[in-house]
Amino acid sequence: MDIILLQRDLRLIDNPALFYGSKKRNYCVIYVYDKNYWKSYGRSPRQLKFAIDCLSELDKNLKRINSKVFIHEGSFESLGVVIKREFSNFNIHLNHCTDNIYHREDIKKFIKSFNDNEIKIYDNFGLQLKEFNRDTWSRDWNKIMSKPLLEIPEISNFNKKIPLQEFKDFEKKNIIEKHELDEIQIGGEKLALELLNSFFEYRADGYRKKMSCPNEAETSCSRLSPHIAFGSISLRKVYQSLSDALITSNFKNDLYSFKKRLHWHCHFIQKLETEPELEYKSMHPHCDKLREIEDKELIEKWINGETGFPFLDACLIYLRKTGWINFRMRAMIMSFASYNLWQPWQLTSPLLAELFTDFEPGIHISQVQMQSGVTGINLPRIYSVYKQSFDQDPSAEWIKSIIPSLKKIDLDLIHNAELKDIYLEKIVDPKKTAAKARESVWSMRKNTEFKKLAKEVFIKHGSRRTQRFNRMR
Ligand SMILES: Cc1cc2nc3c(=O)[nH]c(=O)nc-3n(C[C@H](O)[C@H](O)[C@H](O)COP(=O)(O)OP(=O)(O)OC[C@H]3O[C@@H](n4cnc5c(N)ncnc54)[C@H](O)[C@@H]3O)c2cc1C
Repeated sequence: MDIILLQRDLRLIDNPALFYGSKKRNYCVIYVYDKNYWKSYGRSPRQLKFAIDCLSELDKNLKRINSKVFIHEGSFESLGVVIKREFSNFNIHLNHCTDNIYHREDIKKFIKSFNDNEIKIYDNFGLQLKEFNRDTWSRDWNKIMSKPLLEIPEISNFNKKIPLQEFKDFEKKNIIEKHELDEIQIGGEKLALELLNSFFEYRADGYRKKMSCPNEAETSCSRLSPHIAFGSISLRKVYQSLSDALITSNFKNDLYSFKKRLHWHCHFIQKLETEPELEYKSMHPHCDKLREIEDKELIEKWINGETGFPFLDACLIYLRKTGWINFRMRAMIMSFASYNLWQPWQLTSPLLAELFTDFEPGIHISQVQMQSGVTGINLPRIYSVYKQSFDQDPSAEWIKSIIPSLKKIDLDLIHNAELKDIYLEKIVDPKKTAAKARESVWSMRKNTEFKKLAKEVFIKHGSRRTQRFNRMR
């Protein structure tokens, strides 16, 4: 028989493990629900809710082909014991997933407990999993993305009883408090496809400009990120639909910008795949010495959106509520924590990750490191919370809609955060702290040994189209 394991690849279409595992029509599908994983680095209930939405739809779709989702409650390692005890003569199928260290260690033990011929692992994204070579990376990515999409799996004839609960019983247990998650995106293949189509048909018009403003980005960005992160749509499907859309689109330049981001998606995940220690170590080893003292109170005010800077606070309040915010604002939020508050990114990164429904460790950790100036290969950029406020919400209407207590306040006072006795006290002076941070980072970068190590980082992780990546903000 064939045992198909689901991770963050919760879809029916273009799912290699499901497709190949179903070939002999004698298969069962298992999702591993591990409480400890959901408490590990960056994981949170909003992401679990999204995953459950996806599983719910997948379970219904599988029932149409005489299959269903079973749940194993526990780690992958413990599932290995169950499989060996309950089954004989089996093949295990799973798609590769680059995740945090908790997951990586667990899946490693699981895989090790089987013989090579008992387990088949497939590509999910466009990563180099076996032979890593930065020089051929882009070509390999294009090859993976151009492969034909895989169809619906075969109908299952599997009818043995197995000692695992069915998804429908698991779903009834209400393992998450949903009431706080009303505005979090809903998961599932149907909605992923709807987003994809509406984006290519009309929402992407003006994407290149609108993506920077949090208000416009809400509808002008694709909003596919949680679907890609939890696999309710395959990256290949997004890429191939984009290629079709580009033939007839009236906003081709917007779509070319989108296309670059699909490359970046895997480019960043590859870094964590190649060097998992990036979860806790700066890409450039000297940079871990930069910020060693933590201030819990500052971090708490930052992550709760209580910094005294209305635009920054509005971004965090919006993110806490919706589970999403646009790229530029994510960069500003992180830059504020690392440069203005001078807090170690290792502490702030998982707190921010928990707020994203689309948490994708490879992208998140690479971006956090970039926005904290610790990669050694990207030019440090310190975002001004004042400038971003003026530029991205000139009328301050968006800020006012999120912080209603500022409704009647003059907009210059809001942008400049001059709100004594009206709003929260500013927790730092952004100009002074940015100047100090700039000095510390640049004096470190001048060092000859620093430059030598930066070259080594570039050889390992740098895009061979570096100029483009350096410009990325
Ligand atoms: C500090 C920080 C943390 C981030 N953490 C995450 C994360 O955990 N998960 C995540 O998916 N993105 C992350 N991003 C990247 C980016 O902000 C989001 O991908 C984007 O905002 C998601 O919205 P969208 O799907 O509408 O994006 P679109 O603009 O429509 O882009 C389409 C897809 O391209 C990919 N993509 C877009 N921008 C980037 C980028 N800069 N780098 C890599 N891939 C990109 C994503 O898969 C995205 O879904 C982070 C950025 C920063 C600055």
